[in-house]
Amino acid sequence: MAGVSLKCGDCGTLLRSVEEAQQHAELTNHSNFSESTEAVLNLVCTACGKPCRSKTESDLHTKRTGHTEFVDKTSEAAKPISLEAPKVDEAATSEEALNADASQDAEMVVPEVDKTIVEELEVMGFSTARATRALHYSGNASIEAAINWIVEHESDPDVDQMPLVPANTKVEAPKPSLTPEELKAKQQELREKARKKKEEEERRMEREREKARQNV
Ligand SMILES: [Zn+2]
Ligand SMILES: [Zn+2]
Repeated sequence: MAGVSLKCGDCGTLLRSVEEAQQHAELTNHSNFSESTEAVLNLVCTACGKPCRSKTESDLHTKRTGHTEFVDKTSEAAKPISLEAPKVDEAATSEEALNADASQDAEMVVPEVDKTIVEELEVMGFSTARATRALHYSGNASIEAAINWIVEHESDPDVDQMPLVPANTKVEAPKPSLTPEELKAKQQELREKARKKKEEEERRMEREREKARQNV
């Protein structure tokens, strides 16, 4: 049987395609992929259609939503892995090279990002530049990914500068893995966290003001 997935030798994660493996490598710096005949699980929730790729994920979905019925569509989704690089003919290659050259002198613009998420981040107290930057570099996918990015890059010297990309750059948003209701719950949770943090901060400032007054 041909391999139907790529297995990360560093953490054991199964990836469905070379693209997924590349994404995984970028996110984790893992690089030991090997072809595997283990198919990536595809458990689909019968109530809302959410696909889960592991038992852990479907359990989590059950916990969050109360949905308990899953159909195992693993064999339908499994496709033989192709490790060959996509074939390109000479003409296409040189055209691509030309485009690459052109994009080097391209005009730099602020990347397009999801404005509603930027607004949400602004409400949480992040600057527009930081929100835009985080959203762009986290794949313009979700508020959660953007916040994770901010947490990791908080001390970057340019974190509050508007990001600039060549005018013709396209960022493809990965498909959201959460259902809309889960996403909503997640955002609620994050807002709650941000609010608590702010309150703590205010209490701390209050205490310091108090201390300062007593010292006078
Ligand atoms: Zn890994
Ligand atoms: Zn469900």
